[in-house]
Amino acid sequence: MNFSDSEIVGSIMANNGYETTKDIKEADVIFVNTCSVRDHAEQRVRKRLQEFKSLKKKNPGLVIGILGCMAERLKTKLLEEEEYVDLIIGPDAYRELPMLMETVETGQKAINVLLSDEETYADIKPVRLGSNGVSAFISIMRGCENFCAYCIVPFTRGKERSRDPKTIIEEAKNLFNQGYREVTLLGQNVNSYRWNHNDELINFAQLLEKVASVNPQLRIRFATSHPKDISDDLLHAIANNHNICKAIHLPFQSGSNHILNMMKRKYTREWYMERIEAIRNIIPGCGLSTDIISGFCSETEKDHQETLSLMKWVGYDYAFMFKYSERPNTIAAKKYQDDIPDDVKGRRLQEVINLQQELSHKSNLRDIGKTFEVLTEGISRKSNDFLFGRNSQNKVVVFPQKDYKPGDYVQVTITDCTSATLLGDVAES
Ligand code: SAH
Ligand code: SF4
Repeated sequence: MNFSDSEIVGSIMANNGYETTKDIKEADVIFVNTCSVRDHAEQRVRKRLQEFKSLKKKNPGLVIGILGCMAERLKTKLLEEEEYVDLIIGPDAYRELPMLMETVETGQKAINVLLSDEETYADIKPVRLGSNGVSAFISIMRGCENFCAYCIVPFTRGKERSRDPKTIIEEAKNLFNQGYREVTLLGQNVNSYRWNHNDELINFAQLLEKVASVNPQLRIRFATSHPKDISDDLLHAIANNHNICKAIHLPFQSGSNHILNMMKRKYTREWYMERIEAIRNIIPGCGLSTDIISGFCSETEKDHQETLSLMKWVGYDYAFMFKYSERPNTIAAKKYQDDIPDDVKGRRLQEVINLQQELSHKSNLRDIGKTFEVLTEGISRKSNDFLFGRNSQNKVVVFPQKDYKPGDYVQVTITDCTSATLLGDVAES
């Protein structure tokens, strides 16, 4: 999400005469796009800011700006705490950047952290930062109103709003014409995408099919899905379109009903399992990944075991796993005690990570002997003689280079694997 926002900011700045540089020493302006989801993310930003501070000592004209969720959360406090920062701007105010830059140029500090009910940056053509020229992100909605008890996102990114589908399809077409072969539609909860204007009513399943019809050679991915509203309609749309990737990221956070209830996730373990069954029935062979939080308030050993058992039952290909981090002003911070000692959180998280590594390896072993269509992304990090890409299930596949280039679809038969990667040979046609 932040990456996609940086591309919007890049575009706004480019339209006002600025260029991006890969050499930080050359920069006249440094913007840090920040995340507040966990305290650790904020600490990393603070460290990075120290590096920029020393650059500013050498070059007093350097403008330093903080963008995104930390800007939104801390507002003027950030200007007090980091006195060499010139500009603070929240995620819905990026159009104001050129104006704020003018203020900064007069030697004053500038800040805009207003959230909007409508801003989707629909008309802005993002610059593609650090792109491989093959896959790109398209932001389809902003904000979130789910208010999961642990989560700061609804506070830093404001109300949920969907972007005009015409502009989404236009962006997908432009990307395809520029040579891109994969787009990932982004939102905090894409299943609740809903466009309802002048009698035009479009839900996420319909949007997905529209984007899929841009070109059969354009792959579509999406993130993130919320288990409470992943519908059969959506699963059928995925199953029925070859170019909608067979991979679903479905965060479950905890396997315990007691914790899910406290987290205000609005589903139960049984509901989640039923949705996984539906995915297995409607989209056989679908890739599955998830997010897990270890050590949420009052989590018992039994709750933790339920998380492990759900992981085993699903057999995820991949997971993002986190230690619970209390965030100011969230429901959990106000109502619950962050009562799991850090060493217990750490141990439980490690058990989750160890299990996931096993599950990823097992999942990859099951793919040996299968043939997948792989979209080539680039040269393998380990050897110039090999390329890498992803299969529809979102697994990284490494295969011999031959004459293929990024953007090519290649049929690859899997011969070997690690827990992170599939290795294969180009299939005989
Ligand atoms: N909208 C997405 C996820 C957004 S944040 C969803 O609902 O799935 C990405 C992930 O960060 C979450 O899924 C959760 O696992 C994790 N996360 C969010 N807040 C957290 C917190 N306070 N502590 C630890 N992990 C957190
Ligand atoms: Fe946070 Fe929940 Fe919204 Fe995801 S759905 S962004 S976890 S509040």
